This record gives sequence, structure tokens and C-alpha cells, in this order.
Amino acid sequence: MARERESVCRLCRREGMKLYLKGARCFTERCAIERRNFPPGQHGQSRRVKLTAYGQQLREKQKVKRAYGLLERQFRNYFEKAESSKGPTGENLIVTLERRLDNAVYRMGLGSSRAQARQFVSHGHLRVNGRNVNVPSFLVSVGDEITLRDKMRENAMVMQARDVSQSQSVAPWLEIDRENHRAKVVALPKREDVQSPAINEQLIVELYSK
Ligand code: SF4
Repeated sequence: MARERESVCRLCRREGMKLYLKGARCFTERCAIERRNFPPGQHGQSRRVKLTAYGQQLREKQKVKRAYGLLERQFRNYFEKAESSKGPTGENLIVTLERRLDNAVYRMGLGSSRAQARQFVSHGHLRVNGRNVNVPSFLVSVGDEITLRDKMRENAMVMQARDVSQSQSVAPWLEIDRENHRAKVVALPKREDVQSPAINEQLIVELYSK
């Protein structure tokens, strides 16, 4: 599976904010943003440049793309779909990204990061409506029931993720049964449901509209 090659903490430092790419570590003082909140590289600490309008748009796109763990082509495809759908493009984009199965599994608290949730999905540990689904980009719909396979219930990574997620706010579009490792999609996610990371999707629309 294609993925970003750069160290994930460098990605957060580049964007100047926590993107929560490393699970439990992101909530500790070992987080690189807590210790070195300046851009990576030799001149990161000394050279603070004021971003141009284009620079701001680019950074916003990179931030969202990285938070959801996508490559440029995949992200562009989501944008094109969002653009051809009814309603505001930026909002369509964010809502569609939220509906990805790997993201839903992360929001359920079964993976401590989207990358881990994606690995669980692609290794065939998740079911949707009782059927195995191993495609992380699968889009969940209202009424879908997502369950973890029985053999993973005592898995140490799942248990750790569950502990990490206890302190996080619950996605209102999911009805989560933590005890039984299942969730039901009770509504489509709304734009206001996505608070982390903070996103200004209009900048992405402006970038791709050039
Ligand atoms: Fe690394 Fe997580 Fe901190 Fe980002 S939020 S810098 S991924 S530890």
C-alpha cells in the first residue's frame, strides 16, 4: 500500500500542529510538537517565513491529506468527486473523508491512529454488516454496522487504542458499543462533527480552483 515516506512526527512539525498520527505517543510529552514545535530541517528553528496566500492554501491541503493518510492522487480524486456532488465542495470533501472505513474504525476507538485502523481493515479484521471488508477507502453509509472480528478483541493494540480513545470526544454520527467492539452509523457525518484537526477547507477549494 502506498504511503508517505517521511517520519510522521516531521509531518506534524511541518504543519505546526498535532495531526495525531502516532497513537498513544501523541498524548504524551514525548510528542514532537510538545518538544520541538518548529519546522523540521536545519533551518527550521531560525527561518520563519510569512506564508503567501498560495502557501497557506498548500499547507492546508497538505495538512488534511496527511491527517487522513492519503497520497496526492487519492486526495485529488476525493476533491474531484466532492466538486461534482451537490452542495459546497469543501464540506463534501471533509464529509467523504470522514466516511472512509479506516477513519470510522479510528473514530470508534479501535485504532489509536488512522494508520493503525487502516492496517486492521486491510488485514481483514473488520466486518461491515457481517461481511468482511478489507478496503480502507470503503465509504460507510447510514445503517451500516461495523464490528471487529472476535479473534481481535483481546489484541493488545486494540486494548491500548480503546484506552487512548476513552479521553476523546465521540463522533456523534456513530453509536458506539465499546464493550462489544461494534458501532452503528446512525447519520452521515456533518462538517461540524470534524473538529480535529482544525480545517479551513475553503483554502483547499481555492488551491484546486486555480
Ligand atoms: Fe508525533 Fe503524534 Fe506528536 Fe504528531 S501528534 S508529532 S505524530 S507524537
